[in-house]
Amino acid sequence: MNKIIDGKMIAEQIKNEVKEETARLKEQGVRVTLAVVQVGSDPASGVYVKNKKKACEYVGFESLSYELKEDTSQEELLALIRELNEKKEVNGILVQLPLPAHINEDVIIKAILPAKDVDGFHPENVGYLSTGQKGFVSCTPAGVIELLKRSGISISGKECVVIGRSNIVGKPMAALLLREDATVTICHSRTLDLKAVTKRADILVAALGKPKFITKDYVKEGAFVIDVGIHRGADNKLCGDVDFEDVIDHVSAITPVPGGVGPMTIAMLMRNCLESAKK
Ligand code: NAP
Repeated sequence: MNKIIDGKMIAEQIKNEVKEETARLKEQGVRVTLAVVQVGSDPASGVYVKNKKKACEYVGFESLSYELKEDTSQEELLALIRELNEKKEVNGILVQLPLPAHINEDVIIKAILPAKDVDGFHPENVGYLSTGQKGFVSCTPAGVIELLKRSGISISGKECVVIGRSNIVGKPMAALLLREDATVTICHSRTLDLKAVTKRADILVAALGKPKFITKDYVKEGAFVIDVGIHRGADNKLCGDVDFEDVIDHVSAITPVPGGVGPMTIAMLMRNCLESAKK
């Protein structure tokens, strides 16, 4: 096993698998289409949307792009979602978050048909995950599980600690680890003695959104560390929630930033969209 887990390479493998299957579906006359909706012109969202469209092109999906103005009303956005829900040829609908403050994200997420909710954010899909049923799973935590499995890191029975309890990363991450038979602990900003908890972890997932916060004092020697965080520093370089240089000699394996969890998120989005088309 490599000490530095190559998320970019594993994401390429997954995208190539999706690409092959997409080509097979095409031969049977089935096209896969993802609708990508962006409201406003947040530069970070713009980059994510561009990368998602690029990935669609790579795997052979059609992508429909909707770039709406910042002042689009909630009603207008809901009307577009209803239209996409009804369009037979659309297999997946992705509304890029965050949305402008005047739009209620929960209302928008709930409006997406669960069968086209390839981001896995709809409460119905979240419910399926927590009750162990099949449904779409949030792409970033699903990507983490895939990274662990494809790197030969066994999860069953391990002590896993997730730092962060967001609906998009922390909570589904914990649910997925539990589904893989790990013993799971979730930490958050009110956790009293964070270090004492994280030092128990055989597998530590950092998703707290604080650049280079996790130093080796938080990590058990020989642990596997997954860094979900992504931040652009003043020097314009990307870094994660983990202080990579500080922990690297202390761990069994770690994901780098960039090139770790990030590329997996898009690869899993492609896989979810393919699954939707197959259904
Ligand atoms: P978020 O919604 O801001 O949630 C952060 C979580 O961390 C919260 O639950 C918060 O606790 C907890 N937290 C904050 N400070 C803490 C501290 N000092 N000690 C312990 N817990 C603390 O963030 P998110 O959306 O989950 O994202 C987390 C990170 O992952 C961000 O850096 C984000 O950019 C990145 N991300 C990356 C990808 C990717 O594709 N690589 C995808 C999504 C997100 P409370 O609940 O108590 O406030």
